[in-house]
Amino acid sequence: MSTSETTDVAIVGAGPAGLTLAERLAVQGLRVLVLDRDTEPGGVPRHSDHPGYGMRDLRRFLRGPAYANLLAKRAELAGVKIQTQATVTSLDDLTLQITAPSGRRQVTARAVVLATGCREAPRPARLIPGSRPSGVLTTGWLQRAVHLEHQQIGSRAVIIGAEHVSYSAAITLREAGCATVAMVTARDRVDTFLAFQIAARLRYRFPVLTGSTVVDVTGRAALESIQVRRGDGTVLTIPCDTLVCTGDWRAENTLAKSAGLLLGSSGGPDIDAQFRTSHQGVFAIGNLLHPGATADRCAQDAQLAAAAGGPIMRWLAGGEWPPRAQRLQVGAGLAWCSITTLSATSDAPVFVEVTNRLRWPVFQVTQGERIVGQVRRPWAVPTRPLVLSRHLLNNIDPRGPDPKLTVRGA
Ligand SMILES: Cc1cc2nc3c(=O)[nH]c(=O)nc-3n(C[C@H](O)[C@H](O)[C@H](O)COP(=O)(O)OP(=O)(O)OC[C@H]3O[C@@H](n4cnc5c(N)ncnc54)[C@H](O)[C@@H]3O)c2cc1C
Repeated sequence: MSTSETTDVAIVGAGPAGLTLAERLAVQGLRVLVLDRDTEPGGVPRHSDHPGYGMRDLRRFLRGPAYANLLAKRAELAGVKIQTQATVTSLDDLTLQITAPSGRRQVTARAVVLATGCREAPRPARLIPGSRPSGVLTTGWLQRAVHLEHQQIGSRAVIIGAEHVSYSAAITLREAGCATVAMVTARDRVDTFLAFQIAARLRYRFPVLTGSTVVDVTGRAALESIQVRRGDGTVLTIPCDTLVCTGDWRAENTLAKSAGLLLGSSGGPDIDAQFRTSHQGVFAIGNLLHPGATADRCAQDAQLAAAAGGPIMRWLAGGEWPPRAQRLQVGAGLAWCSITTLSATSDAPVFVEVTNRLRWPVFQVTQGERIVGQVRRPWAVPTRPLVLSRHLLNNIDPRGPDPKLTVRGA
């Protein structure tokens, strides 16, 4: 049976971004509905059971599940309706089609916000050759299996990737009684904080093989070993029963794409600096826009989008949705920029990711020959989205040519 209902704001995704936004809007008196396909609200932090959550948004230092619970509780207390096991299968204008165990239904809202997050590239997307045995998973799946489903993992694991989330995988493997025997990265160095590297070296003692790639996977039903080509051309065979593919984030853009939204350089919806997508009344926030950013950054998007007098309240009060005009071009050295369309006011932070590690990078916005914005940072590291000043885009001439964002550094 199919039913229909209406609400002021419908939010797709009950992760840190969606829950924070819902709470902020509900306390301003709006009817807010949050839909999530998972069994509980909370998004990724629900199964990421280690400390490191809530620093910028809540000024607290929480474990993932505690953070997820707190955000869900706050939203519910504010009067938000949260529906889990509710997969949004399509978005047409401002109407969502939802499939849940109770049946199919539709919801029409005055504003829709996509907060569907991102995910790690699974093995097929990484083009890893070899057989297709069980035992190959991403950090997300590993943490769900260990923390939510209490499943047995193997006894010897190799981690692909050497960034923050790769160390999160090492912690989970240890908690599951599985030894990490090596970490393999194609990059020439580790892309996480020195403190994490030292702590892991002292505690886990696994070798980190930089400049190395997995060139074969063996095992029929179950994984038996992998082969790794080192930077010097030698090939190493590592016996293992678990292979964890970490990082290499992809925007969870399935719904946005099927709705026909324009996509930006990060793979998420093309937004302007007010979180507005190419479809009237549809906003996007969180890691859907900047894959790989921390949860507090995603919650901060929500705080800005839901502010009194902010983009969503302005729209609901009869604000306009201007046609897309200038587009920000992204130059060499940048993998993506979270904002691609320009707007008169800037509410959304500008996130970027670089393709190579840079010391003292200078990010510059030019319009023709003219430099219209510039900001310097001490460093930029691939795999770690960086937030630039939102005032970077303030001096663009709306009648001038498309501006371009470039980066240079040592
Ligand atoms: C292993 C790991 C460790 C991490 N450690 C930290 C850390 O220590 N500190 C930190 O700050 N950050 C950490 N992060 C990052 C943090 O988890 C993310 O920044 C944050 O979860 C992103 O929030 P989000 O709301 O944008 O998306 P998500 O948390 O991904 O939530 C998106 C939600 O959308 C739902 N959804 C998607 N599509 C649909 C659909 N069609 N219909 C219905 N629902 C849908 C999903 O089920 C999901 O619940 C870690 C991430 C990982 C993977």
